[in-house]
Amino acid sequence: MLHLLPTLLPDPIWGLTAEFQADPRPEKLDLIVGVYRDENGQTPTLDVVKAAECQLAETAATKAYRPLAGNASFNASMTRLLLGDTSTELERAATIQTVGGTGALRLLGDFIKLAQPAATIWTTDPGYINHRPIFETSGLRVRDYPWRQSAEGIDVDLIFHCLADARPGDVLLIHGCCHNPSGIDPSAEDWTEIAAFCAKRELVPLVDIAYQGFGDGLSEDTAGLHRLVETLPLVLCSASCSKNMGLYCDRLGVAMVVAPEERAIAKTMRNLENLGRTNYSMPPEHSAAVANLVFNAKAQWVAELDAIRNRVSYLRKELCDTLERQGAPASFQALRRHKGMFSLLPLSPTQMQRLRSEYGIYGSDTGRVNIAGLRAADLSMAATAIADVAA
Ligand code: PMP
Repeated sequence: MLHLLPTLLPDPIWGLTAEFQADPRPEKLDLIVGVYRDENGQTPTLDVVKAAECQLAETAATKAYRPLAGNASFNASMTRLLLGDTSTELERAATIQTVGGTGALRLLGDFIKLAQPAATIWTTDPGYINHRPIFETSGLRVRDYPWRQSAEGIDVDLIFHCLADARPGDVLLIHGCCHNPSGIDPSAEDWTEIAAFCAKRELVPLVDIAYQGFGDGLSEDTAGLHRLVETLPLVLCSASCSKNMGLYCDRLGVAMVVAPEERAIAKTMRNLENLGRTNYSMPPEHSAAVANLVFNAKAQWVAELDAIRNRVSYLRKELCDTLERQGAPASFQALRRHKGMFSLLPLSPTQMQRLRSEYGIYGSDTGRVNIAGLRAADLSMAATAIADVAA
């Protein structure tokens, strides 16, 4: 039966990472994968997480099976983190622990297929490389809408124009903050307009928030989600703890459905649990237990996360300053306004390949670079290289 398997190309990101690892040049720079890196090029485990792991090792709680929805206390804390401690919408939310943000996206894809089988899900172009494959695997029709910078935020008029074919019940996927790969985020006015558009056209937003805390701050980064939840009866949300708790390989996230009324919650939860049950049964307890201790030490967590965000902002600003000094085209200055770890360099695939072959600077052919992969000591070299290939 194996001869029926399709022949697949290697994943572009992981393929490029293998190429980077094989490169013998010591000065090479990995700006490929979306993980935070410190000045030593390491992805550190947060101190607050280390302390939580020590505490858990001491108490050695049972490893017996847990409920299908995962850790209830974690789910409640995540709901408050996403909607705000004092939100009046908290009682409308059904939240289930998932296997990372990816698991949340897939669970919500399966959920949409169950609840609204004919729905089209609209994803951003450019967008996160895994959105389309995930939703197509759930059996959904996927179409793109453009995500372009405007003077203040994103070009909402272009978006609304391109969504002319969207039908009531279709799902509009929006990155909650720190858009991957462009770094372009909506302004407050853009969010208000998007919420009004969804209301008028009866679209259901799915807010994918994988970088909460990397834009303007933990609570600031949910402003767009809040605007949608205040305006609309039904909002879906996938959230990840991979970046903001640094729990990448421990696979922690949530899928949240903010339902039109409280009485829809039990039915929604049963369906989400059942979708998880037929896939992996239940999500991992250990990472949720760590997260609960992190929530208990919130001040320390926020301080560590603020330091991470400030380092990325510093690198972004320094890179732009250096590019300006080196005479790189003015189009590179747009990077200053971007949020989070990513930006798309205004370079062609051939120019990105030259960055790799001539300078050992590895970003995707699309121009996506992870700013956190830069080291302060390499900024000048990187800016010279970028200005050179752009010339
Ligand atoms: N959504 C977006 C926009 C992402 O960039 C990512 C991963 N970087 C995810 C979801 C998936 O996150 P996780 O690693 O927690 O599965």
